[in-house]
Amino acid sequence: MTKQHTIVFLHSRGLVPPEVIEMVNEQLPTGFRMDFLEQSSPADTRLDKIAHADFVLAYPGNPTEDELNAAKQLKLFQMLSAGYEWIDLELFQKLGVPVANNGGANAPTVAEHAILLILAVFKKLPLHHNTLHKGQWLGARETLQMRELRNKTVGIIGFGRIGREFARIAKGFQANILYYDTVRAPTVIEQEVGAERLALDDLLQRADVVSVHTPLTAETKGLINARTLGLMKPSAILVNTSRGPVMDEPALIEALQNNRIAGAGLDVFTAEPLETDNPLLALDNVVLTSHIAGVTLDTWSRRIAFGFANIKRVAAGQPPESVIVG
Ligand code: NAD
Repeated sequence: MTKQHTIVFLHSRGLVPPEVIEMVNEQLPTGFRMDFLEQSSPADTRLDKIAHADFVLAYPGNPTEDELNAAKQLKLFQMLSAGYEWIDLELFQKLGVPVANNGGANAPTVAEHAILLILAVFKKLPLHHNTLHKGQWLGARETLQMRELRNKTVGIIGFGRIGREFARIAKGFQANILYYDTVRAPTVIEQEVGAERLALDDLLQRADVVSVHTPLTAETKGLINARTLGLMKPSAILVNTSRGPVMDEPALIEALQNNRIAGAGLDVFTAEPLETDNPLLALDNVVLTSHIAGVTLDTWSRRIAFGFANIKRVAAGQPPESVIVG
């Protein structure tokens, strides 16, 4: 009889709806059994389950050092998220357990959200929505304050899975695409969207819209700061759907308060949940969402399908895809 592999689905209560747990169960491949474990489960339950896991599927769930030391048969730590700054990568590396992210399963969702934020800032959506709800009809009074994405120059910082999806959609708006990335994209991708690779400072000086799509790492922390914001055109807007600490938030607030840049669309913040006294909430040139860029009903089946496909690859003796360390 062939061995049944054990997958532990380590998740945080409230972030994974019961319907998704059902989807995970329905998509579970043959030859695997699934154990569900919450981040808040008692320590002895966690240790026991993780110690017997061949694979961990995480959304988000972070094993402790003791749990990982006990996980002698763990072959892959498979995240259902794209971001991985919450994981102790050094520890996984030391233990020789590969870590993979979701392989771009929510890239289209985040890309659409970045476009949504651009259009909402350009068209002053919160102002029009809120005034109408207050019984006021602004009509075309704000005409000169509103702009369109068509033919604008879009600067993408981080031209990976999300950055490229974003470029494809922006291309549909006939935007000109610039990108800054430490790694050059394949020529075929550059040609598909007509993207030009630039140094960061050059991109910031030319772009009408700057959209950030890097992971949060030691190198990207504070990448958007007083100096880099100072390079942007006063008419330009910043969109951040990556991670809050990629921008120096006080510097951004100052730039927005002084109209150093024209506006911002932000899904992520230094402190989440956003503090109720955060000055961003008092600005009328920003559109804010609560770290929802990557989540829709549509992404779940792609996340789960990618996670199981990767686990099956490793169980069959092949290397995993979308590896962060390993
Ligand atoms: P990816 O790995 O496919 O692409 C990231 C790109 O950034 C790569 O091309 C990489 O070379 C580039 N990069 C890395 N360091 C850089 C640096 N110092 N300077 C310039 N470029 C650099 O990742 P992705 O799937 O596109 O996701 C990007 C990030 O988006 C994730 O790490 C995550 O933090 C964030 N994200 C947010 C949400 C949300 O809900 N707001 C959802 C999903 C992902």
